[in-house]
Amino acid sequence: MADISVVGVVGAGTMGSGIAHVFARSGLRVLLCDVEQRFLDRALAQIRTNLGREAAKGKLPEAEIELALARITPTVDREALAEAEFAVEAAPERFELKTEIFRSLDRILPRDAILASNTSSISITRLAAQTQRPAQVIGMHFFNPVPVMALVEVVRGLATSDATFAATHALAAPLGKTPVEVHDAPGFVSNRVLMPLINEAAFAVMEGVAAPEAVDQVFKLGMAHPMGPLTLADFIGLDVCMDILRVLQEGYGDPKYRPCPLLVRMVDAGWLGRKSGRGFYTYPQ
Ligand code: NAD
Repeated sequence: MADISVVGVVGAGTMGSGIAHVFARSGLRVLLCDVEQRFLDRALAQIRTNLGREAAKGKLPEAEIELALARITPTVDREALAEAEFAVEAAPERFELKTEIFRSLDRILPRDAILASNTSSISITRLAAQTQRPAQVIGMHFFNPVPVMALVEVVRGLATSDATFAATHALAAPLGKTPVEVHDAPGFVSNRVLMPLINEAAFAVMEGVAAPEAVDQVFKLGMAHPMGPLTLADFIGLDVCMDILRVLQEGYGDPKYRPCPLLVRMVDAGWLGRKSGRGFYTYPQ
């Protein structure tokens, strides 16, 4: 695979805007696609703010802000990705939606281009099977906030070729990320290990073993976690945590992943964490 200089990013939300940010910062041209112009405007405003923060902290020369922004071409027309040598899909976590996107990217992108997904829990092997190029489909799982978090899980589907893996792995370093190789299995490594921790913490609260603050203190002070599991759950979104637990439960057929009833009740109540103002903690809106 020749050196990659043009990348496509599909979905300009929380993750897609962060992914576009790190690609543009590393000098790549980015074609950023979403369904409506207002989502692209929001993403570019967010990227500008975040690049500004990096410059203020001395992590980026001031002059790079405009240069990085100029490398991003926003578009509502997916056909504009015809030039991309590598694409990352970061659309909402719904299999039917991702299927539609992968089929169309398969048609639009050059034959040797790689199609990656930032999915947290959908099978890369299943997504690959929707395309005519399963050997060139891979998971590239970034972490939120993308410009800050150092990890990328590079997820090999059953059919992913060594060349696709090597090209994706090589793309991570210039982004300032450390790639970690994992194989396609529900939750990969990150969510397979993290979600049962969050779930068990919710059980401890539900059963009155400890208050949320106490559970989080145990992990911060006893295990040197920068934030406790319930603070983290509020960050991620309790609805997202519940959905991922259901994917694990179904994927492994193991009841140990069943979402804690307290988590389910909180989601039913609309207590989704930071984004709704209330989760295990309350947040001024
Ligand atoms: P989000 O809702 O913030 O953004 C999704 C974006 O995709 C929106 O801007 C939406 O308008 C756009 N979109 C919807 N349909 C589209 C289409 N057909 N074509 C192009 N764009 C479309 O979601 P997010 O949090 O950025 O999550 C995106 C993906 O990243 C999901 O698969 C999620 O599981 C994964 N992920 C999320 C996190 C996280 O912490 N938020 C972390 C790792 C991975």
